[in-house]
Amino acid sequence: MSFPRTLGELRHSPFSEEILLTRRVKDELRDNLVAKLRKGGPIFPGIVGYDDTVVPQIVNAILSRHNFILLGLRGQAKSRILRALTSLLDPQMPFIAGCEIHDNPYAPICLPCRERLEQCGDATGIAYLTPGDRYVEKLATPDVTIADLIGDIDPIKAARGGHELSSEMTVHYGLLPRANRGIFAINELPDLAGKIQVGLFNIMQEGDVQIKGYPIRLPLDVALVFSANPEDYTARGKIITPLKDRIGSEIRTHYPASVEEGIAITTQEAWTQRNGHRLHVPKYVQEVIERIAFSAREDKKIDKRSGVSQRLPISCMENVISNAERRAIRHDEKLVVPRVGDVYAAMPAITGKLELEYEGEMKGADHVGRELIRAAVAKTYDGYFKSTDMNQIVQWFDLGGEIQLADSASACEALTSLRNIQGLMEKLVKLNVGPKDTVETQVSAAEFVLEGLHAHKRIGRNEERVFTAGEKAPKVAEKSFDRDEMPFRGRRPYN
Ligand SMILES: [Zn+2]
Repeated sequence: MSFPRTLGELRHSPFSEEILLTRRVKDELRDNLVAKLRKGGPIFPGIVGYDDTVVPQIVNAILSRHNFILLGLRGQAKSRILRALTSLLDPQMPFIAGCEIHDNPYAPICLPCRERLEQCGDATGIAYLTPGDRYVEKLATPDVTIADLIGDIDPIKAARGGHELSSEMTVHYGLLPRANRGIFAINELPDLAGKIQVGLFNIMQEGDVQIKGYPIRLPLDVALVFSANPEDYTARGKIITPLKDRIGSEIRTHYPASVEEGIAITTQEAWTQRNGHRLHVPKYVQEVIERIAFSAREDKKIDKRSGVSQRLPISCMENVISNAERRAIRHDEKLVVPRVGDVYAAMPAITGKLELEYEGEMKGADHVGRELIRAAVAKTYDGYFKSTDMNQIVQWFDLGGEIQLADSASACEALTSLRNIQGLMEKLVKLNVGPKDTVETQVSAAEFVLEGLHAHKRIGRNEERVFTAGEKAPKVAEKSFDRDEMPFRGRRPYN
C-alpha cells in the first residue's frame, strides 16, 4: 500500500483536512476503542486478571477522553498497560516530513513548519509514524528538568541561524513536545519536582510554557498518562493540586486476586521455553512459587508500602527451571522437571525482591525467604493431601528411616531411595502421578510430599537435604547424641 507523499496528495486521501483537523489523539484512541468494543474480544491482550476491575475503568477513561493515572504498587503491570495503549492508535499517522514534533500537515504549530508550508504549499513532504513511534515514556526522578521534559533555548542554534534568543527557531524540544500527536507516559509522577509539574500543567491547560523566562506557545496534542505508587501519591504536596485536578481518572491496580491468576501471569511472562530440553513444570511447583508472593504480601516482616512485585514469582520460576535444567544437563536427562528443592535453590531470585521491615531485617532475608517457601509448600500440600493419611510415611522416618534428596541428585538415583519409603509412591495418585510416569516426574512428586510433611513439621530435614524423623530429629553432626536421648525409637540402617 502506498501513502500520499505530499500535502497535495494527502488532501485527496482518507487523511483529508476535515478528518485530520478534528481528530485529536484522544479522539483517535476513543474511536479505535469503540471499534474494538464492538468487535468483542480482549481489549488489551496479555493483561491478565484485570478484566473485571482495571480494564473497564481504563476503557471508561479513554471513552471520556481523559488523561489518567494508574495507582499501584510495584510489579502490577502499570507500565505494560500504558504501553498497550498504542494498540488503540491508527496504524499510520501522517506528519510534515522532518518535523521534530510531528506537526499536523494542516495545522503545524512549529515555526519552521509554518514557514515551509508557506514556501512549498501542496508540495510539502509528508511522512508517517507507526503507533510505536508515537509512544514516549519517561521515568520521573527529582532531577528531571524543564529542559528534559519541555525544552530549552539553544543559543548555538540562535547564533547560527541569526535568530533572536526567544525565537521559536531556537528551541531545542524536550520529551513532551516530541510526543506531540501521541501518548506521553510519565512513571512515578510524584517524583517530578513541583516546578516541572507546573510546567506540565501549563501545557495541558493553556498550551503555553515559559522556557528560561521566554514564553513559548506550544498547543500540543498529547494523551497524557501517568503511574504512581499510592503511598507517594496521597502524601501531601507530592502532586500539585492543579495538576491532580486535570487528571480525569484515577485507576487503582492490584496484585492477582487468586493463585490461578498469578500462575497465568507468571506462565506468560517467565522465560520457560528454552532450547535443548523438554520441560514439564508440575502444577504444584507453579502453585508453590506463586504462593511465595501471596504469603510475602501478607507477611508483617515485609514492607507493605513497597509491595511484593509479580516479578518475584516470574524470576523465581526462571531460576527454578534453571536449577532443574542444570541437574538434567549433568545427568544427561532428557526431561526437565522442577522439584520443590529447586525452589529453595532459587533464593537469589526471591530475597532481592523483598523490602524487609525491622523484624525481617533482624532475622535476615535468607531466613525470611525460607519461611515464605515453607509456608507456600504447606499451603499447596494441603490443597492435595489435607485429608490423606500420611502416618505410614511419618512412621517410616520415626523408625529411623533417612533419605537424602540433594537438588543435584539424578532422578534415577533419587527414585531408588524414595521407593524404600513405605506408602509413599501410592500417595502420588492425588497428583495424578503413577508408576507409568517418567522417573523425573515421580521423583518431583514424591519429594513434594516429603517437603509438605516437613513444612508441617511432621518430619525433619536438615541443610544437606536429609529427611529424618520429626522436629527433634538429629542433625548430622549430633546424630549419635540425639539418638541416645531417644532410646524408644527403633533403628533402621540407613545405607
Ligand atoms: Zn513542525
